Amino acid sequence: MTTTDTGTRRGKAAAGSEYHAKDGLLLEVEDLYVEFHTADGIARAINGVNFDLYEGQTLAILGESGSGKSVTAQAIMGILDVPPAVIPKGQIRYCGEDLLTMQAEKRRKTRGPEISMVFQDALSSLNPVFPVGWQIAEMFRVHRGMNRSDSLERAIKLMQRVQIPGAKERVKAYPHQFSGGMRQRIMIAMAIALDPAVLIADEPTTALDVTVQAQIMALLQELQEERQMGLILITHDLGVVADVADKIAVMYAGRIVERADVYDLYRQPAHPYTKGLLESIPRLDQKGQQLAAIGGLPPNLMRIPEGCAFNPRCKYAQDVCREDRPALRLVAPGRESACHFAEEVLNG
Ligand code: SF4
Repeated sequence: MTTTDTGTRRGKAAAGSEYHAKDGLLLEVEDLYVEFHTADGIARAINGVNFDLYEGQTLAILGESGSGKSVTAQAIMGILDVPPAVIPKGQIRYCGEDLLTMQAEKRRKTRGPEISMVFQDALSSLNPVFPVGWQIAEMFRVHRGMNRSDSLERAIKLMQRVQIPGAKERVKAYPHQFSGGMRQRIMIAMAIALDPAVLIADEPTTALDVTVQAQIMALLQELQEERQMGLILITHDLGVVADVADKIAVMYAGRIVERADVYDLYRQPAHPYTKGLLESIPRLDQKGQQLAAIGGLPPNLMRIPEGCAFNPRCKYAQDVCREDRPALRLVAPGRESACHFAEEVLNG
């Protein structure tokens, strides 16, 4: 068991937590569907997603904008606006308990101490009119009942832990007085303040330059290892997560279309969409090769194509792809793909 700045943490469950992660299994997302009911029609954002997350595991969820990855994260956190969002089907179990049928107050209490989230845009997520130290300290005041000076002391320790230089002096500074990278560190400090078992980071480095991106990912990895959190990284950029993730789930039109260990997927994708994503990022091992963007656009979620949703953009598509929706299936040891021709893609 590891001792951290914020208290003693887990062998199996968070200190003081009523939840217990049996065999290290923290999160089970099962057959999850999310729709948005709008005046124009029903957008089917998530269409039967399944995955598990264990203590100490990092799962990257990869996909273009509109693939459903952020909606999945919001559903887990319980921060979807309902309505227009509707969850017609599925379970999200945290330590065996279904968050979707949990009493509202009990669920609210999971946000922060059990499951926490780092958002993409630190500037709009932080309150501009309060000093950052005050905002971090508030987590301890509200959730742990700490007094002002103890909570501020904790905030300084956390700022030091996320490597903010001069934390003691800068605890009274305002969000706009920090760089983008430093603000993201403050967001991370707030997200881990209550020592959550699950941390979800939604595009945590999108607005940052490449060097700072790498530093933030390294920090997340360090914290994840130190606290044995289950970490979910939501990203559109495989290059950013390749060094950090254990497993990758690739999403397209609200479904997982490929799932594999990061190394296997990076080396040899088993789905044409993943292959396209990989061909569109620069790789050190393929210098001099031209980058190719995936042609076409992600589908309108109100009119997802029949059969395989990727078929209008897929260079491997055959008639069967326009008729039968391929299920996610095992295509090689540890490799799952939702493609009728996964074996050809894998070996081609
Ligand atoms: Fe392409 Fe067909 Fe595979 Fe879909 S099922 S990814 S359209 S080859």
